Amino acid sequence: MIYCIYVYMFVSYLKNFFGNIYIYIYIYIYILPKLHFSDKHSPLSLKMEKEYRSYKLNEARRANRSRVLPQSASDLGKLTVVLDLDECLVHSRLSSGQDAFRQDEERKEDPHPLDEFVFTLNSGEVVHCNKRPGLDLFLKTATKEYELMAYTAGIESYASPLLDYLDPKGNIFRHRLYRDACIYAGGIYTKDLARFNRPMNRILLVDNNAMCFLPQLANGVPISAFYDDQEDKALVVLTKFLASIKNKPDVRPSLIKSFNLVNLLREHRTQILG
Ligand SMILES: [Mg+2]
Repeated sequence: MIYCIYVYMFVSYLKNFFGNIYIYIYIYIYILPKLHFSDKHSPLSLKMEKEYRSYKLNEARRANRSRVLPQSASDLGKLTVVLDLDECLVHSRLSSGQDAFRQDEERKEDPHPLDEFVFTLNSGEVVHCNKRPGLDLFLKTATKEYELMAYTAGIESYASPLLDYLDPKGNIFRHRLYRDACIYAGGIYTKDLARFNRPMNRILLVDNNAMCFLPQLANGVPISAFYDDQEDKALVVLTKFLASIKNKPDVRPSLIKSFNLVNLLREHRTQILG
């Protein structure tokens, strides 16, 4: 209340020297920001409270997005198969030609359209997307056999609508992780399977970028990079391989024996992750 009296007196005093418009400008710029309002219904505190709530809400959303729930009753005991997106399931061509949306990788130039779908991001970027041969069948069958997850180094604003296209009902991928859930080290985004809160003996990552395996080399299943090859059979091979290990109590010995990533990438891991 005392603040109001001071402000009123000050305003009356200034009125004699300047016009109303100057007074309001002066008060708005110099006085109001310096006052501490204990009244929570004042315009300033309402604004601050709104901003604070918005910050807390976004913080909660970020936390929830990365939180993976335990296996559902229908998935209990299933092998958790984490799938990369770009050049593993699809290959995208962006209208701007820039690569800020995806992991920075060397990619084939001028790939041909193949089983293509097109969508537009909120930014206006038009994305032309090639589907890897056999993708629809692979996802349809694999989602029954395994607990499927998506984990991409792409940013959410790009990868989320793409995954929506592949999984329109949201019943294929149990959870999606994006770039913000990756470990950025040595100029690349690596993928940490610990983010899924699953036992390490029953989870694996399928990825075309070997560097993504660095946090857990024993859990990696490398796959060739896909761009536009209509003869590509990688998903057929992957289907058979997954079937051969899906019931093993610990898949890591089979993966080490098959791909030897633990030895091949040991030095890279030390250099990049320390
Ligand atoms: Mg990839």
